[in-house]
Amino acid sequence: ETYLSRLKLAEPQLKSFIHVSNNVLKEAQSIDDKIKRNENVGPLAGVLVGVKDNICTVDMPSTAGSRVLENYRPPFDATAVKKVKEFDGIVVGKTNLDEFGMGSTTESSSFQVTANPWDISRVPGGSSGGSAAAVSARQCVVSLGSDTGGSVRQPASFCGVVGLKPTYGRVSRYGLIAYASSLDVIGCFGSSVADTGILLSAISGHDRLDATSSKQEVPDFTSQLISAALLESKPLKGLKVGVIRETLENGVDSGVKSTVLGAVSHLEELGCTLSEVSLPSFSLGLPAYYILASSESSSNLSRYDGVRYGNQAAAEDLNALYGDSRAKGFGSEVKMRILMGTYALSAGYYDAYYKRAQQVRTLIQKSFKTALDENDILISPAAPSAAYKIGEKKNDPLAMYSGDIMTVNVNLAGLPALVLPCGFVEGGPVGLPVGLQMIGAAFDEGKLLKVGHIFE
Ligand code: GLN
Repeated sequence: ETYLSRLKLAEPQLKSFIHVSNNVLKEAQSIDDKIKRNENVGPLAGVLVGVKDNICTVDMPSTAGSRVLENYRPPFDATAVKKVKEFDGIVVGKTNLDEFGMGSTTESSSFQVTANPWDISRVPGGSSGGSAAAVSARQCVVSLGSDTGGSVRQPASFCGVVGLKPTYGRVSRYGLIAYASSLDVIGCFGSSVADTGILLSAISGHDRLDATSSKQEVPDFTSQLISAALLESKPLKGLKVGVIRETLENGVDSGVKSTVLGAVSHLEELGCTLSEVSLPSFSLGLPAYYILASSESSSNLSRYDGVRYGNQAAAEDLNALYGDSRAKGFGSEVKMRILMGTYALSAGYYDAYYKRAQQVRTLIQKSFKTALDENDILISPAAPSAAYKIGEKKNDPLAMYSGDIMTVNVNLAGLPALVLPCGFVEGGPVGLPVGLQMIGAAFDEGKLLKVGHIFE
């Protein structure tokens, strides 16, 4: 009840949610009854979970922030949502996002603009801005987001919460409405590393409904945290930390840089051995990402033709029906991505763009592998700036895209990364949070959570 009233109090200013469930108290009551009957309950018992609206939930809207799916009520739960419910978590509602996850501010949602709880004149980041703002403002305890190129980590940084992007394949994508399938992952938000780890434990694991989900064993991420909490004076002694040189060069706000360097010296105090690492192909990640993500999205979104999927426009013939359904259903950012992707995949341009971007992707994967063979974790800012004003970059897509420079490489390499608050810069009424990004080897989320838990 406390969370629900808090949710309702903050919602007119923040607009984090596209839909709020009517069944929260009923579900909470039934979990309470279970406890009274001495039945076992899961580790999310009674915990309110926000779910990004591109993740399917039975009998609730699942719009992906798009008019084209405005009336869609899936007849099934995404595997991650099913698992949250099996752990006795309660889905409190569906959170706002950039249409189909395409954006970095949540301004490209077809329904509403979400505000940053630290300064409501600023963006919460994106595309999972609703999920990040909701946890930041304590409208729910934890939330699910998706991260194709940074959509969990960048809003976590802007809203001052913890955000985790798992290894590609760690969490089933079944029921996640596709943006770019080779990059998409479902990730977690929490107000602490421990909360985030509990949610990750709940949703991880192989799923026969997603052929790309991994059979890797899922460790109990939270029991590792308990032993990590038995602190010694240098609890991270021997941990090798590589600071990525290219992420602290030009283009990073000076306040962000000094805050992150402050966090790095804190890691040193905790016993870590620091070194500087170079990822020479780092700056190629951004163009490669936008070519690959747009290409995959142009293919994935071809299904919304008003016949197979999506709202159908009234039209006189079949071509007009396809054309009008798509013209009315998609917003301008999505249309731009479809055009860019179709161009990059077309005969004559494929070799120059798509194929080269794939080659860059291989280079990036190799340079991360080398750096992570020599280091336990790699460090960078989560974003080159703190949260900016609503509208500031809306009409300048290149400026907005370049804000993703810190995160996209990690998706191209399929690696896990944890973002956690590490300080503040000036701005807004009370300062603006800055996030630190820790990148780990594939399936090494346990280590990231342990280090993050000690750090916070
Ligand atoms: N901002 C990036 C994009 O627009 C990343 C989005 C995401 O991770 N879903 O593609």
